[in-house]
This record gives sequence, structure tokens and C-alpha cells, in this order.
Amino acid sequence: MKLVFVNVMQELHRFDSTAIISQPPVPLAVLNGVTPRTIETALLDEQTDPVRFDGDVFAFTLATQYAGKVYGYADTLRAAGKRVILGGIHVTIRPEEAMRHADAIVTGEAELLWPAVCEDLLADRLQQRYDGSPTPPSRMRPVDYRFFGDRSYRTPASLFATRGCNRRCSFCVSSSYMGPCRAKPLDVLEQEIDQLHALYPGAYLQFTDDNLLADRRYAAGLLDLLRRKQRRFVTMLTADQFCDRSLVEEMAASGCLGAAVGIESVDDDNCIAVNKRHNAGLPIADAVRRANRLGIQVCALIMLGLPHDAPQRLARAQRALERMSCSLYDVRILRIYPGAPLYDPMLSRGQLADAWWLAKESVPTNPILPGYLRVHFQHSRLSPTQLQYWALKLASELDRMTSDSVVRVLRVGRQGRAMKFAAALLSARHRTACQARRLLDQVERIMAANGETCDTASQSGIVDPVLEEEGRRSSGVFNGARPALIP
Ligand code: SF4
Repeated sequence: MKLVFVNVMQELHRFDSTAIISQPPVPLAVLNGVTPRTIETALLDEQTDPVRFDGDVFAFTLATQYAGKVYGYADTLRAAGKRVILGGIHVTIRPEEAMRHADAIVTGEAELLWPAVCEDLLADRLQQRYDGSPTPPSRMRPVDYRFFGDRSYRTPASLFATRGCNRRCSFCVSSSYMGPCRAKPLDVLEQEIDQLHALYPGAYLQFTDDNLLADRRYAAGLLDLLRRKQRRFVTMLTADQFCDRSLVEEMAASGCLGAAVGIESVDDDNCIAVNKRHNAGLPIADAVRRANRLGIQVCALIMLGLPHDAPQRLARAQRALERMSCSLYDVRILRIYPGAPLYDPMLSRGQLADAWWLAKESVPTNPILPGYLRVHFQHSRLSPTQLQYWALKLASELDRMTSDSVVRVLRVGRQGRAMKFAAALLSARHRTACQARRLLDQVERIMAANGETCDTASQSGIVDPVLEEEGRRSSGVFNGARPALIP
């Protein structure tokens, strides 16, 4: 029996900062590691391999944004007599939907349960549904990266040290569906780091954790390990962690090359409304300068479509972001995922198309744009095209290659002794700005043809009621308090 683990290419890989990232699907290697040796296994990774389904059983992991694509593959394979097993976060949130396209589904974390699923597979008694449970740290084993063979990933040394997130941002499903926060034992992580060094000696480590440094005691041990191992690394971190001077100094001393920071919005009221109050009132521009002086490149993660966004606000946000002088800006449009705290209230108010991930195009919008720029909800001040316009405008102008930005990125690279990484960032920046500019030209033509301008939906004083209510419930800050805005 040949079992093939399938990694479907995410649309995000076509545009934005992920243009410099293609990473091995590490969770599939975790499952491969607990598959009985009596089963022959293989990997089909759309990022690197021609799409040929050669096997008897196919195991997919799926996230919401490409669930429809996976279901298409699954239906075709099953019609051809193959068996399909589906797992992943979307299956956990929407098990009944996934069951219609699979011989078996696995909800939650599959690692502990997988050997039993395989036994059932071998005995031809596969059940329709298996419910996994969070793997305790004591059961975590080192990932065997040899599973990925000689595939060529841009960031091959990808790994994760933690699972779950202790924050509760209302647009995010991680904190609700990734189980309790857990951290891999450092000796297990050390074995992975050693293996990655042997396989990819020149590659920096890329941590894919949602919130790697949430637990400061664990973070101290992890950073100490990285320092001892003399391994360079990049990671995401929350804006408040990024503004923590001592933490960032520790990161620099431990070999951090770059940090992707969840800024989302420069407007405090926006952050509070999506329960990201830990972002409010932070001196982020100062923190960027400090990180740069320590040799750390900064990628700003920006989210458009938050409740207080409006054309004038976005124009002002652009100026504030420019002043932050980040090495790269990653601009995305809010997506409301099932399982996120915002999903049900917005659905019940008719602001969201249900099961938007199954529709080819759920909201009349612009088919020329990459999927992740499609808009699946109604914003109270910005039409879908206006949101797309502003996302592309910000990406094209914030990432524009000016002599200042090039000099700055190279200076940080020199400071961090990481010129190759600086060059990769500049290349991503150039690519992002060019693609965004090209798409923006097309969107502007469509808007002109439709008689729509970039700010016609502007209505000062209107706030999305569901998002505002969410902010009030989760933070208590909206009760009469006037949130600070950028000047
Ligand atoms: S957005 Fe980030 S910080 Fe917020 S809950 Fe999700 S993973 Fe955690």
C-alpha cells in the first residue's frame, strides 16, 4: 500500500513576502514519522513537484483558503477508486463538510492517533471520523527532514517549537483551534536544529510558530540554545514583544536576522476592535529603529479591512508606515475564517457569505487579483474593490525601491552580517512593489469603468457594528474611552 501525503500550494505563495518563502510542509513529516513501516509513504508537494497522483491512499492537510481546491482533488481521486483522508485546521472546524469529500477525516492534532488510523487502513476498516488530541510535550519527537528529499525550498530549514497561541485576536482561529499552548522540549528541538544544519548548512532557521516567544521562560531557553548553536533565524512576533527592548536585544544576541511583526493597523481603535489591544499605544517606529541598529530586518504585517479603516485613515496610515522604515511591508486584506470569533456574528448580520471558501467568487469583485486579495465580507466604509485598491496601493508604495530604502536594508544587513538575507529582502520588496503596481493599474481601470473612486464609500462616523461589539466585549475599552489615533 502506498500512502501519499499531499501538500497543496497555498495561493499566498504568488505574491507578497511569501515570494521569498517556500517551506517544507513540516506537519506532514511529523505524520510520516509515526506511520508504520509496513506502509510505503511518499510526498507530493505542489510547491516543488509536478502534480501526479501516484498511490493508493492520499492524505491531505487543509486550511480554509484552499479547502475547495482540496475537495476537488479528493472527489476526483475517490471517483477513481483511491482512498482519501483529510485533516488539518479546516477539517477540525468544519468536520461535516470535509466528511462529504473523504473516506476518513482526522480532527485536531493527528500525531498520536495516526498509527491507529494506519492500522485501520491496513485492515480495511477505516472509520469515517477520528478525533485527535493535543500532543503533550513529553510525546513530541524530532521531525525527520529527510522526508523532503532533495526538493529545493527557498527556506528549507523551517521548524516550529511551540503550538497554540495565548492571545485571542478575534479574526484568528489559532487560539481556539490549535489547542493549549505547548512547547517542544529543548533537547528535541536541538536534535532538529542539528539535523537541519547537517542537511542545509547555509540556511537560516525559519520558525513558523504563531507565537514563538509568548512564554518568556521558554523563550529564554530557546534563545540560549540558538546562541550556543550559532544558528541564524527569523521569526514572527507580536507588536508588544517587538517593543520589549530586552527581548529584542536577546534575539539579536542569539542570531536573529529578521522579525515579522503583527502590527495590523497603526490605529489603536482598529486593534482594540479585533481584540488586539496589546498593540495599542506602542512606539513601533522606535522599536524598528532599535531592531535595525541591532542588525534585525523588520517585516511589517499589515491588515486592511479593520472596522475603522476608511480612505482618509488609510492615506494617513500609509504615511505613518512609511515613517517606520521597515525593510518589507506585507499588506493583506482581512479574512473572516470559520471558527474565528467574528465569523458567526458577521454571518448572522448578513455581512459575510457563508462557506465563502467553496464559492468560486462569493462577492462581486475582481477576478484578475490573486485569491488572497479577494474580499469575502462587507465592510461598512470600503467596497471590495476599494479594499483591493488600498491593499495594492499600500503594497506598491510602501515597498517601492527608493535609494533610501535600499541603503537602509543593506545597512541593516551589514550590521547583522547577513548581506545575503538583505539581498533576498530587497528582491522580495522589488517583486512585491512591481506586482502590486501592475495590479493596481488594472484595478484603477476597472474602477474608472465602473465610475467608482478610491474613496466614494467614505462615511465618517460609521463603524462596523459587529467588529465594534466584539472589541467592546473582549476589551472593555470602547465604553466611552476615546482610543488614541496616530497624528
Ligand atoms: S493573530 Fe497571532 S497573536 Fe493573535 S491569536 Fe492569532 S496567532 Fe495569536
